[in-house]
Amino acid sequence: MEQIRLTKYEVEDALINLKQVTLEVTDACNLRCKYCGYGDLYFGYDKREDKYLSFDMVKTLIDYLVDFWKSKKATSQIPKTYIGFYGGEPLMNMDLIKQTVEYVENLKINRNFVFAMTTNAMLLDRYMDYIAGKKFNTLISLDGNSKGHSYRVNHSGRNSFDTVYRNVKLLQQKHPEYFVEHVNFNSVLHNRNSVETTYTFIKNEFGKTPAMSELNNSGIRSDKIEEFNRTYRNKAESLLQSENYEKLSEDIFVGEPQTEQLLLFLHQYSGNTFRNYTDLFIDESELKYRSTGTCTPFGKKLFLTVNGKIIQCERIDHNFALGSVENGRVNLDLDYVVNRFNSYLDKLSKQCTVCHRKKSCIQCLYYIPDIDGDKPVCHGFMNKNDFERFQSYCLSHLAKKPQLYEKLMTEVLVE
Ligand code: SF4
Ligand code: SF4
Repeated sequence: MEQIRLTKYEVEDALINLKQVTLEVTDACNLRCKYCGYGDLYFGYDKREDKYLSFDMVKTLIDYLVDFWKSKKATSQIPKTYIGFYGGEPLMNMDLIKQTVEYVENLKINRNFVFAMTTNAMLLDRYMDYIAGKKFNTLISLDGNSKGHSYRVNHSGRNSFDTVYRNVKLLQQKHPEYFVEHVNFNSVLHNRNSVETTYTFIKNEFGKTPAMSELNNSGIRSDKIEEFNRTYRNKAESLLQSENYEKLSEDIFVGEPQTEQLLLFLHQYSGNTFRNYTDLFIDESELKYRSTGTCTPFGKKLFLTVNGKIIQCERIDHNFALGSVENGRVNLDLDYVVNRFNSYLDKLSKQCTVCHRKKSCIQCLYYIPDIDGDKPVCHGFMNKNDFERFQSYCLSHLAKKPQLYEKLMTEVLVE
């Protein structure tokens, strides 16, 4: 298999068909969660200064994107773009959110917009009518019951659980249909909760299956590693320790830690799945591939920080900014974007070419330590033996769980 590099055409195409614009509407937050990615445990983000994104910046960016969105090259007849509001706590900059929604809704352009938000729910009682009225897809951060939620504290160190619980219950009572269709939960796993306690609480109280995430294990400050290790809980282990493992893994199977691996395995190696009809005629050995599991810049989303940095997504270090919004204009040099991305691929190409996992790689290059240095080393690399172990793990897992195989094949891969 031959490696392919990123082209400017692909980046333009990604902007034309942009699926999501995420706006960091403020870096201020009314909570001080102990494990926050912008808190004491981590480095690699712009200093938090209680800033608020200005509407001028948002307008400048949207106007710039509209030029791409008017292109006839869009792949869908009525493309859809999510406008996501992110923080800090986004509800602390509600004026900007309302201005943005109004501006986007009045664009004379052939495109559907859907609004989305991740919130800690502390101010939800004030703004729920607006949010429900605009049918925001709302993701609420809730780590389970009061004990599970106890790292999510206010500025005086008090658990925010009571306020969050009251606000979410109020939303459920006042806007029941909206709640069922558009509200979801994200829970962070740590040493005060578990997959089972969190799932059970949220399912019983709100009828929802929460997405569960582990603490981010990259960018940890060297003096905080012990604290991180004390706080961290592994999702797969926590799931395995559940008394109701079978039932739980069935209910949350798409979010189960192994599922992404198994999906990729089935997709790439089983020979039984095809993305479209033309795949049936392709000789796999002729296929080119792009190493690493990194998305194309703007292929998934575009993230604008409160300081005007344009980044590929909100989950990576702000030092990977690709452009900016400054003084009423967007600075985004697509040649620079392409060259920078390709230079990372080049640095990794020796490892990727001989890596046995390259057809199912899920490694984002921005998480590879020292990727800006001369010789970054990918810890996801698999030699032949590692890969055979991985293969036999996938096969034995699927053999033990025929019902999971059926679900992956029918409910996830084939629509
Ligand atoms: S973490 Fe990496 S692969 Fe994932 S969306 Fe961000 S840039 Fe893309
Ligand atoms: S796991 Fe690492 S070395 Fe292997 S293909 Fe992915 S990025 Fe390259």
